[in-house]
This record gives sequence, C-alpha cells and structure tokens, in this order.
Amino acid sequence: MINSLRGFRDLLPPESDLFARIETAAREVFGLYGYQEVRLPVLEKKELFVKSTGDTTDIVEKEMYAFTDGGGREVALRPEGTPGLVRAYIEHNLGQTGRNGKYFYIGPMFRAERPQAGRYREFTQIGAENIGNSSPYADAETIAMLVRLLEKAGVAGCSVVLNSLGCGDCRKAYRELLLAFLRGRSETLCEPCRGRIERNPLRALDCKTDGPALAETAPKLSLCPACAEHFSRTRELLKISGVEFQVNTSLVRGLDYYTRTVFEVRSAALGGQDAVCGGGRYDDLVRSMGGPAAPAIGWAVGVDRMALLLKDKPAPDTAPGAFVVSAAKEAGEKAFALLTALRAAGISSDYSSFDLSLKSQMRSADKSGASFALLIGEDELKAGAVTIKPLKEKSGQYTVPIKDAPAEIEKRLPKL
Ligand code: ATP
Ligand code: MG
Repeated sequence: MINSLRGFRDLLPPESDLFARIETAAREVFGLYGYQEVRLPVLEKKELFVKSTGDTTDIVEKEMYAFTDGGGREVALRPEGTPGLVRAYIEHNLGQTGRNGKYFYIGPMFRAERPQAGRYREFTQIGAENIGNSSPYADAETIAMLVRLLEKAGVAGCSVVLNSLGCGDCRKAYRELLLAFLRGRSETLCEPCRGRIERNPLRALDCKTDGPALAETAPKLSLCPACAEHFSRTRELLKISGVEFQVNTSLVRGLDYYTRTVFEVRSAALGGQDAVCGGGRYDDLVRSMGGPAAPAIGWAVGVDRMALLLKDKPAPDTAPGAFVVSAAKEAGEKAFALLTALRAAGISSDYSSFDLSLKSQMRSADKSGASFALLIGEDELKAGAVTIKPLKEKSGQYTVPIKDAPAEIEKRLPKL
C-alpha cells in the first residue's frame, strides 16, 4: 500500500465539487470584468522565483520545491502564479499583442510548509493580474472584483485589509530607519530574521514569529506625496465601489515585489490560517524581469481555504435523472442503446450492469438517487417498450414506446 505524500491531498467528492463551483463562480466574475485565462507551466526555472518573489521571502527561502532535473537544470514547482504570468507576458510580448492586460489563472501551487488545517503543500490558487495600468481605478476595480468573486462563490464574513507600501523612493528612507531599529533589538529576533534583516529589513515585519510585536513599536513608513495621493484615491474609489475595508499600516505581505497598494482578505472563521487572499501592486516587477515598464496589480485567492468556508453548504444534487435497468438478460443491448439515447438527449443517466440480477440493479437504482428507473424486461422487449418507474414515489409506473422514453423523462424531470 503506497500512501500519498504528507501535505498532498486527494480531493474527493463532495469537496471536489466545491472546488468546481468556486472555479465556475470565478470564471463568471472574470468574464464580467474582461479577464482572460492563461494556463501556465507548473515547473519553471528556479531563478524566476528567486528574482521575482525574492530570495529573502519565506516562499523562496524555506518553502520552495526546487531541484535539479535530469538535465542538470535548476527548476522549481511554482509556489505562486505571478512570476510565471509576468514571464509569459514578457516572453509573448503581451503588452503589444494582448487585449487589455487582464489575465487570470487557476491551478495548483506548491510550498513545502508544515501541513495543518488550511495549509497544504499542494494547494489551488485562483489569481488575477492587471498589467499596464498604474491608475488607482485599477486598484479599486481589482479589489472590488475579488469581493464580487467571494460573494458569487458564497463566501461570507470576510474582511478586506488594506495598506500602502509606497514606491522605491518612499522605502529607501524607511529601510534605513527600520534597519537601525531592528539592529537595536536583533537579539530579540528569531533566527531567520536575524539572518535577513540586513538584506531585507521589511521581511521582519511580515515574520509570523516577530511581526506582531514589531508592528506595535517599529517606525512607520511615511508615503511620498504621489504615493499618498494614490492611496487616498484608491480608498475613495473603493468606497464608490461599495467595498468595505480597514486600513492596517502593519500589513506588509510576504513578497518582495509589491509597491504601493497591498491588501489581504481574512476570515475569522478560518482560525489560525485566516488569510483567504493576498494581493497588491507591483509597478516595477515587469521591468525588473526584463520586460517593458508596465505597472501592474494582482491578487491570488486560496481555493482550499474558500472551500473550508463553504464546506457546510450542501452540494448540488448530482443524482442522475434516469437509471436504466434490464429486467431480462436478453434486454441488455436494448437497455444499453436506451442509455445512449437518454444521454444524447441531455438527461444524466446511469446503470449498474445489465449482466446483474434485476434485484441487484434495482438496489443500485435506489442508491443512485435517480428520479426514475427505466426497465426493459421480457414483455417490454417484445413490445419495443420501456416501463418508467418513479423512484421517489411508491406508485405510478407506466409503459411507453422506447423511442418516446427520452422525451417523456425530459418532460417529467424538474427543469434546472
Ligand atoms: P499565509 O500567511 O497563510 O502563509 P501567504 O501570505 O503565504 O499566506 P499568499 O502567498 O498571499 O499567502 O497566497 C495567497 C493565498 O493562497 C493565501 O491567502 C491562502 O489562501 C492561500 N495559501 C497560501 N499558502 C497556502 C498553503 N500552504 N495551503 C493552502 N492555501 C495557501
Ligand atoms: Mg505563507
């Protein structure tokens, strides 16, 4: 017996169905906002993530599934979607050839973290990126779209937390201030933070161990006039969009490439792993990866955590409409043809096996939750007919010509 790897899950029904529903809701919302889908590779060059996500981030430093492949190449399973999307944007010159710079992706991400409720080593993200738009309208639009998606999927009770990290200029001065502050208390910091504050002092504020205490006492970033204006316009436009949010100046987010607006969606119902979505602006990333100057903003929601929030919502009824039963061995072929005709008519239909006894087939019919059993026995075979037996009521069976059966069932099934 070979088990699955720790942190890697089998998504079984009905949970798999929840995932599908979330994805359907997302696709609908993306359609409303003019986003097109991209499907990106799961495996990329390791340096893509080192350069974009950042080598002092938890994701790259501690959590990446990186290895040398058979050809001696340093590769990594993608821990997040933005680097691959930005790579594809540059590689395919989408700034010139694309419609509007709005893209979404849905797929698995991989991070070697300690598995626990809501935290897995393979998990699914739905992400959206709007590349080429520096305006606060894009910030408000993308956050409003995210809130719409959560609503559409049925996820309630989330809160949006917002902050601005300013631009490179705002951060240059801040970096020195923060570094001096952190150096002064380096012996109180956790081991990884002590090792990285010189390279990236901001990381300490995002650290799960040190962050909360530092947030209280650390010096605060002050925004340059242009960044302050951008942030205040974003807040105004969010109000116009009807989005409720709280500003939290200690929100820093765990990735290196963010500039200006950053945000997180949290749900208290999730307990420890309360982040449902993270996102922000990354105005310098595309250029720093070798592309054109293309300001951008995006986010990624965790589908696994959304599914946890929805797990008490009943799964939609997926029972078949019809269940075909052959009440005589010789009727198998006719029953099999009827099954084909029912499905061709768009009626979800099932059977167990026409080689089994009538009793066993009827037991399966009941278990399936189907609305009707369609029986072909010896008499029906002679007459070219089929008996329709409602399974939810005790009586009311009747016989119709086989060819009329699909239309008859369609008429009697509740319209979806
Ligand atoms: P956390 O603080 O929980 O580690 P994060 O900041 O690392 O989250 P992001 O990189 O912003 O997360 O990813 C966006 C979303 O993806 C998260 O809000 C979460 O819903 C989901 N996510 C991240 N890591 C995992 C994981 N290991 N298992 C399940 N979902 C995850
Ligand atoms: Mg994380």
